Amino acid sequence: MSELPHLSPPADWPAIADGLTQIVGPEHVLTDAAAIDRYSADALTPYRAYYADAAFDRLADVVVRPADTAEVSRVVALAQKRRIPVIPYGGGTGVMGGVLPVQGGIILDVGRLNRLLRVDAASLTAEVEAGMILQDLYDALQPHGLMPGHDPYSVPIATVAGTISTNGVGYRAAAFGPMGDQVVALEVALPDGRVITTRAVPKASTGPNLNHLFIGAEGVFGVITRATIRVFRQPEATAYATMEFAGFDDGFRAVTEMTALGIRPALLDLTEDSEGILLHLLFEGYREGVDAALRRTVAICDTAGGWDAGPEPTLAYWRHRHDSALNYRQTALGRPRAERWERQWGRTFDYLHMSLPADRVLEYRRRADLLLEARGIQVVEYCLWSRPEFFSMLVVPSGSRRVAGRDGYDPEVRANLAAGVDEVLTLAQDMGGIMEYCHGVGIKLNHLLGREMGASREVLRNIKQALDPAGIMNPGKLAL
Ligand SMILES: Cc1cc2nc3c(=O)[nH]c(=O)nc-3n(C[C@H](O)[C@H](O)[C@H](O)COP(=O)(O)OP(=O)(O)OC[C@H]3O[C@@H](n4cnc5c(N)ncnc54)[C@H](O)[C@@H]3O)c2cc1C
Repeated sequence: MSELPHLSPPADWPAIADGLTQIVGPEHVLTDAAAIDRYSADALTPYRAYYADAAFDRLADVVVRPADTAEVSRVVALAQKRRIPVIPYGGGTGVMGGVLPVQGGIILDVGRLNRLLRVDAASLTAEVEAGMILQDLYDALQPHGLMPGHDPYSVPIATVAGTISTNGVGYRAAAFGPMGDQVVALEVALPDGRVITTRAVPKASTGPNLNHLFIGAEGVFGVITRATIRVFRQPEATAYATMEFAGFDDGFRAVTEMTALGIRPALLDLTEDSEGILLHLLFEGYREGVDAALRRTVAICDTAGGWDAGPEPTLAYWRHRHDSALNYRQTALGRPRAERWERQWGRTFDYLHMSLPADRVLEYRRRADLLLEARGIQVVEYCLWSRPEFFSMLVVPSGSRRVAGRDGYDPEVRANLAAGVDEVLTLAQDMGGIMEYCHGVGIKLNHLLGREMGASREVLRNIKQALDPAGIMNPGKLAL
C-alpha cells in the first residue's frame, strides 16, 4: 500500500502512555479495550471495503483527547520522536475508513477543541475549533443571525475539521460550494509538532494558498486545530419548489440551463428513483432575488418539459434531511465495532459519488447502466446533487436476499458488486472525471487512486516526504 516507512510498534507503550498522560492528563488517555475498539473505526463497514479487509485487523494502541492546540502539538511531537502513527479523529462519521489505525498508534480525538472563538459579522467569518460538531456551530451562530454554509446529512454528528479534511458536500452546496470552499484560514499542527497558521483574508497574492494542502487531505499532512470559515446571513426569504420530469435527461437540461444563467439555489437535488424524477429546489436570500430566481427556474423547467409539483415534497425532504444522522447517532455512533457492523452484512448496497465534466454525465449514466446491468446490479437511485457535474448512484445487486445479519451475507454477491463498482468508478476516471466527490478515499478507494492521479501521485508523495518523512501522520491514507 505504501512505500513510505511502515512503522513498527514500539515495545515500551507504558512509557509512551506515561508521556501522553503528562501532556493531556490521565483522564484523557484511554487504553481500555472498549474505547480502543470503538475509536478504531468510522462509519465504513467491512462489507463496503471490498479490497481492504486487512485494514480492519489492527486496533489503535491508545486514544488521546487533548484540550487545545498546545497539547495537540506536544502529542504529535512525542509521536514524531517515537515514530508512532497519529490518526486525527473528528466525529468518526467518515464513510471511507479515514480514521482506521491501519498501523496502530495514537488516535488523536480533537473533540475537546469544540469552541466558537470569534465571529466577524463584517467579514462574514467565524473562527472555530477543529472538533466542534456542525450542529453546535449552527446553534452558536444562530443568535448572531448567521449560519455556516456546509449542511451535510451528518450535521448532528460531524465536526468542522473532519468535514474540511474530507472536503464534504452538503445540502446548501449549490449556493456555497463544498466545505473546502468555506475555508478562509487554518491552524495546523504539522507532523513534527510545529504549528502553522494561514491568514484570515479572502485571497492572497503572496504565494500558493496553503489551506489547500489540508482541505480534503484526510489528515495525512497535519492535524487541523482551528479554522476560520465563511458564514452566511440567515436568509431574509426562502422558497421551496419541486419540479417533476418525465425523463432524467430533461431534468438535467433544466439544471444546466439554470447553472449557465447563474441561478444559484441553496438546494439543488435532481433524484430519479421508484417514485419518479423530482428536482428539489430551495431558494434562499434577499426577497427580490428569491422571487426572481424561482420564477425564472419554473420557466426553465417548463421549457425542458417539467411541471410544478408544488413546494410540499421539498419541504418534507428538507425537514427530514438530517434524519439518517440522528438515527446513526442513536443506533451506531460510539457502539462496539462488531455491533455497528453486524446489521450491515445482509444489506448489500453501495452508494457512489462520481464527478464528471457536465457534458459527459448523461453518456456516463448510459454506459454505467450497461456495465451494471451485465452484472445484475440494479441502480435504485440516480442523483445530481448541487451541480450538474456531481452524479451519484445507489446500487443494489438485484435478487440479493434481504436478510439481516450474517445470514444474508453471500460472498459471491459481494464480489460481483465490488467488481461492478470498480467498473463504473474507473469508467468515470476514463471519461475525464473522478471516482468520488464527497467522502474521500479513506481505505476504500486506495487501490484506484494511482490510476486517477497518474504522475501527480508522485508529487503528493514528494510533499508527504517533505512534511512527514517518518510517515507518522495517518499512514495508509491517500495511498501514502
Ligand atoms: C448518516 C451519515 C450521513 C452522512 N452524510 C454526509 C453528507 O451529506 N455529506 C458528506 O460530505 N459526508 C457525509 N457523511 C460522511 C461524514 O459525515 C463526512 O465524511 C464528514 O466530513 C466526516 O466528519 P467527521 O468529523 O466525522 O470526520 P472523521 O470521520 O473523524 O474523519 C474524517 C477524515 O478526516 C480526518 N480528520 C478528522 N479530524 C481532523 C483534524 N482535526 N485534522 C486533520 N484531519 C482530520 C480523519 O483522519 C479522517 O481521515 C455522512 C455520514 C453518515 C454516517
